[in-house]
Amino acid sequence: MKGKLIVFSAPSGSGKTTVMKKILKQFPDLVFSISATTRKKRPAETEAKDYFFLSEDEFTEKIKNDLFVEWEKFYGYYYGTLKSFVDDNISSGKNVIFEVDVKGAISIKQNYPEANLIYLLPPSIEELRNRLIARKTETDEDLRKRIERAELELSYKDRFDFVVLNDKLEKAINEVCEIVEKIIKGDNHAA
Ligand code: ADP
Ligand code: 5GP
Repeated sequence: MKGKLIVFSAPSGSGKTTVMKKILKQFPDLVFSISATTRKKRPAETEAKDYFFLSEDEFTEKIKNDLFVEWEKFYGYYYGTLKSFVDDNISSGKNVIFEVDVKGAISIKQNYPEANLIYLLPPSIEELRNRLIARKTETDEDLRKRIERAELELSYKDRFDFVVLNDKLEKAINEVCEIVEKIIKGDNHAA
């Protein structure tokens, strides 16, 4: 049987990565879809675990060779989901979870209509800004770009199968884990 696809998305700074880490702990058999990017590696990140970090030439070569399910360029960097990674895993029955931007989520659903889309909603843009400032991983310019894009990203939420508010972190984690469990068991209404 083919594995399931779970797509987890939200504006940058909403808490996606934080929640995702908990999901992966709770569901150790879920495979995290490792995207390719041209963004620089952050100190806490590992090559081929968090991302495949590529040069711009390497990335555009893969676009030319049609190796991506979807790709986007934002904040000046490329990000993309590799076809081979997804297909190899789902065809061997593994459930795959994606952490991509909102447009990428919609593209994945277009390519794999059976995919389940979960949206993590921040309490407000102001809170989003505060979280990004507290994270201290972006330059002022990158931070500004991320906040600017948040309005567009928020407008996508109604196209998702599930929307979870990330106000209190523990509550959001529990809600997302319940949804993931239902999806894995095939007991959800989105599939
Ligand atoms: P994303 O992956 O969506 O860009 P992160 O998971 O990196 O977001 O979270 C951004 C920052 O907000 C991190 O410093 C994280 O610890 C913090 N954070 C996440 N969820 C909450 C929450 N519910 N309340 C307060 N801070 C949070
Ligand atoms: P970050 O630079 O903070 O790791 O990620 C920035 C944004 O890129 C996040 O919204 C993240 O979900 C998104 N992203 C990561 N990988 C992909 C991908 O393969 N495709 C798309 N469309 N977005 C991605």
